[in-house]
Amino acid sequence: MPIINNSKTDPNKILPMTYLWARKHYKDGVNNNWTPEEISMQKDVEQWKSAKLSNDERRLILWNLGFFSTAESLTANNIVLAIYRHVTNPECRQYLLRQGYEEAIHTDTFIYCCDTLGLDPDDIYNMYKTIPSIREKDNFVVELTESIFDPNFSTNGIENIRKFLHDLIGYYVIMEGIFFYAGFAMMLAMKRQNKMIGVGEQFEYIMRDESLHLAFGCDLINTIKDENPEIWDEEFRKEILELIKKAVDFEKKYAYDACPRGLLGIKAETFCEYVEYITDRRLERIGLPKLFHIENPFPWMSQSVDLSKEKNFFETRVTEYQSAGALQWD
Ligand code: MN
Ligand code: FE
Repeated sequence: MPIINNSKTDPNKILPMTYLWARKHYKDGVNNNWTPEEISMQKDVEQWKSAKLSNDERRLILWNLGFFSTAESLTANNIVLAIYRHVTNPECRQYLLRQGYEEAIHTDTFIYCCDTLGLDPDDIYNMYKTIPSIREKDNFVVELTESIFDPNFSTNGIENIRKFLHDLIGYYVIMEGIFFYAGFAMMLAMKRQNKMIGVGEQFEYIMRDESLHLAFGCDLINTIKDENPEIWDEEFRKEILELIKKAVDFEKKYAYDACPRGLLGIKAETFCEYVEYITDRRLERIGLPKLFHIENPFPWMSQSVDLSKEKNFFETRVTEYQSAGALQWD
């Protein structure tokens, strides 16, 4: 029962299931439910209006709100308009619907940040056009994933399966797995220093969701590879590796642009090292050789994903989030 190009798949018949990992990711997503309004922005509003933030800190916050505000809807559109059409397996589609909803929550997060901080939406939502290092990342993903947006595209035949896999790697591994992570590290570094903790917490929740999106994406990619081993030849693996190298360069450029002089005692180079570290994790995950062999410069990043119930208990929040057990996120 292959996952794509299976004429026997009835997209409306979810039971019995073939791909239990898809179901598990769906359940983990549901257990992670959250909404941005549950996070207080009061301290952030005070800080934002005060003189306590440096110009570099403000720039970094704006850059990240600018990148993520449009990147989240780009991702949502990719799922709904391109991926969903070609993945007919019902348990995968159930997950994709959940992911689409989570992307809507993420889109909502940036509306909430703009509203509470009183930011000019035209500034924030135009950054993907006006800021070169943001535009380059977005354009890279859009160009990289052009083929499956073609209304005549089908996944039939070895070349098309290859194209589909290439585009899935563009969406999941590059966009959600690499292009989000310098920003995550910067915003969480701020939060660790008690700066913009509400925005930081929103980014933590987003990051936890994204780690699941990435886990699903890699399982999907690996399943297609396993079921169509002929597509994963040396030439294609090389091509993918080159793409990922380019993506790393774009992300490093972005990291320098968002915080040219480093921040909070962290040099811009260290954010780049973090990008290298997470890229090696992504490569391992899809069975490609590591490129950088570097230690994680921010071990605290992996703890951020595990937001426990206790934390909520001591804070003012009413909702209890179920922790998703051993959630692997980086
Ligand atoms: Mn997202
Ligand atoms: Fe996502």
